[in-house]
Amino acid sequence: MGGAALNGLPAWVMLLRAPNPGPMTLEGTNTYVLRAPGEQHAVVIDPGPLHEEHLTRVAEHGPIRFILVTHRHHDHVEGAARLAELCGGVPVLAADPEFGTPPGRDIKTDGLSIEVLDTPGHTMDSVCFLVDYGNDRAMFTGDTILGRGSTVVAAPDGSLGAYLESLEKIAAYSGVTMLPGHGPVQPDVAVLADLYLRHRRERLAQVRAAMDAGADTPEKVVDLVYPDIEPGVRFAAEFSAAAQLDYLRHRNRESGTRVDRLDPL
Ligand SMILES: [Zn+2]
Repeated sequence: MGGAALNGLPAWVMLLRAPNPGPMTLEGTNTYVLRAPGEQHAVVIDPGPLHEEHLTRVAEHGPIRFILVTHRHHDHVEGAARLAELCGGVPVLAADPEFGTPPGRDIKTDGLSIEVLDTPGHTMDSVCFLVDYGNDRAMFTGDTILGRGSTVVAAPDGSLGAYLESLEKIAAYSGVTMLPGHGPVQPDVAVLADLYLRHRRERLAQVRAAMDAGADTPEKVVDLVYPDIEPGVRFAAEFSAAAQLDYLRHRNRESGTRVDRLDPL
């Protein structure tokens, strides 16, 4: 796939990073502006936080056709209404109607073809955008897969069973450039999806061992599985442990068979 710049970005994608670095956001939220060569209008993915300077910088790359949102967490969607206003009242399209109008499955606009993939797990409204321009193909993964490190699947909004299924779905897109919600661009989304699946299965085995050793709360699981955890991210580890406990208990109730169904929303 041609057209990749040194940083791995396709030539038709611009990355504007929001100034909100932190333990959960890495260097900050990645806001993307997509514009097919020769086209006037662009599409924005994930406006980021409500930060006037950042949003003004994004709006300067208009005109914008519409704004897409990968999921409802504030570090991605908080600035959506303000950016829409700065861009002259363009629509915000989000899976969760609270944050915009739900998009169709397939969007063709301004030289780009955008497929919306349901990838629940990080949150139940998480989607990935699979975008084709000519022979170029890229997947915008939001927080479902990050550019480095691992993401949080937090009960009750997240679901580990749904998340594992989403990773298996993404793993089918071998060779597709990955543009995450945080962290660097990656050349192959399938490689990252496989890595994440391995990591999750290892962690689940550790949590199962902790349960067998008597850990029956998220706090006790974190004490056993992550003894050296940094205090600043302990809450995230406890949310994650709660999701893993839920998942394993659910599986146990199914008498050891794999849970293939999603829990009803
Ligand atoms: Zn995020």
